[in-house]
Amino acid sequence: MRRLTLTTQFGVLSAALVVVVGLVFSAGVFVAIALAVLYLAQLAFVASASKKLRIQVEENEYQALHDTLTRLPNRTLFRDRMEQAILQARREDSRFSLLIMDLDRFKEINDTLGHRNGDLILQAIGPRLRSLLRDVDSIARFGGDEFAVLLPGAASADAAMRVASKIATALSRPFMLKGLTLDVETSIGISLFPDHGNDVDTLIQRADVAMYMAKEAHAGYEVYAADRDQNTPKRLALLGELRRGLENKELVLFYQPKADIKTGKVTSVEALLRWQHPEHGLTFPDDFIPLAEHTGLIRPLTLYVLNEALAQSHQWQEQGIKLNIAVNLSARNLLDSELPDDVAQLLETWQVDPSLLKLEITENTIMVDPPKALEVLTKLRDLGVGLSIDDFGTGYSSLSYLRKLPVEEIKIDRSFVMNMPQSENDQQIVRSTIDLASGLGLKVVAEGVETKDTWRELAEFGCDVVQGYFLTRPIPPQELVEWLAKPIDAPVVGKVRSRKKAVGLKAV
Ligand code: C2E
Ligand code: MG
Ligand code: MG
Repeated sequence: MRRLTLTTQFGVLSAALVVVVGLVFSAGVFVAIALAVLYLAQLAFVASASKKLRIQVEENEYQALHDTLTRLPNRTLFRDRMEQAILQARREDSRFSLLIMDLDRFKEINDTLGHRNGDLILQAIGPRLRSLLRDVDSIARFGGDEFAVLLPGAASADAAMRVASKIATALSRPFMLKGLTLDVETSIGISLFPDHGNDVDTLIQRADVAMYMAKEAHAGYEVYAADRDQNTPKRLALLGELRRGLENKELVLFYQPKADIKTGKVTSVEALLRWQHPEHGLTFPDDFIPLAEHTGLIRPLTLYVLNEALAQSHQWQEQGIKLNIAVNLSARNLLDSELPDDVAQLLETWQVDPSLLKLEITENTIMVDPPKALEVLTKLRDLGVGLSIDDFGTGYSSLSYLRKLPVEEIKIDRSFVMNMPQSENDQQIVRSTIDLASGLGLKVVAEGVETKDTWRELAEFGCDVVQGYFLTRPIPPQELVEWLAKPIDAPVVGKVRSRKKAVGLKAV
């Protein structure tokens, strides 16, 4: 009985052991399976995440090198392809051509049919060009209505002109848009490697010059011609230096204050560009801006100035200094439909309120292409940026025309103001300009105020703001902050005013 019991106990124990071992074993298997499943899931997750990441990277790369609207290569990718074409042409001792084209009546389409329809036309250009180009040819959109075509197989001016002529014909075939037939005209500039340049920048710049020649002559297309290019070798050398100067930050901004004529209060400054040339020393804008204006360099130069000015504005805000900043624009900037977006972007980057920025444009700038200028100015105004007509009186525009523009201020040219003490005639011009402009609700700034008497006289005429050597010459930003802290001798009410109080400086 006892043996039986022992046997039974042993049996029960072994059975229990088997169950426990079984349980442990199956738990182990379970854990192993679970781990394996987990591992596989993780593997799948990592694989899908890295796939997503790869797709994202590819997408980012694609976006960085393509224009979002037309999906055509952008300027960066196109430049890269030009580099490749130059290397290959050097290896094979061959030539190739570059075409830069700009649509002529695009602005009208945008105006009459709206930007969305304008965009549809821009999107249709690529496919239409593609159908008449070879596979090795590249098309790019440089921005706005500007396109570029690289023709590695076009080794002569004649060959390039044949393609340009085909492009012009293809684009003059009407575009159908919502039941409307639209004609697009184009101006094409051609440059050849190595005849017109050995590097990407020179080739683009010369095709650009040729494009402007074609536009002026209403010729459809033109091959670059050195004898018609105002850019002499000396000017081209300077252009190269200016390009390097921009990269090396040799270009700096000086600031000149503008004061309220009645109170002497300084609430705004004008940014004026200076070039700290490594050999020639401080160089003034009249010696290099026209050069940049005749080439594509004015666009990067203006963006550089805007960036520097807004960075300065940001810094002043952090120091508790509230100053409006005025920046000068050039004619070609107003033909650039991307400018308003660039300005918006920079304001965003530097967190500057649009109302703190003023853009100064000369009358002649607007007259180059009034409808296009009006489009760009309207967009800028809609951003909340202030607009001012600079050097007023030197151009041919009438105040009644200017009134149609979204400007709020005119600046009487300094030549009239500086001559006021000697010339009754100039006094009359200044006085009547002030009368007319104020009557139209425009604010009037007098530039070139060099004496207390002129200030006083301008105040009598009803001028609003003064700017000139009487206050100070344009000075570097640090000097300006020190200058702002000192009192000035504003003549109007005959007492010395403290600008420190007037501008509300905190930290200076
Ligand atoms: P602006 O916009 O009419 O600028 C005023 C010019 O008058 C400045 O010359 C300034 O130094 C000068 N000025 C101011 N007060 C007086 C005065 O009381 N007497 C005299 N004699 N001159 C005075 P600056 O700096 O040489 O600039 C010349 C022009 O260059 C500017 O004329 C503007 O059209 C252009 N400019 C300057 N900076 C830029 C820039 O960043 N971009 C562009 N596109 N143009 C610029
Ligand atoms: Mg100005
Ligand atoms: Mg001026």
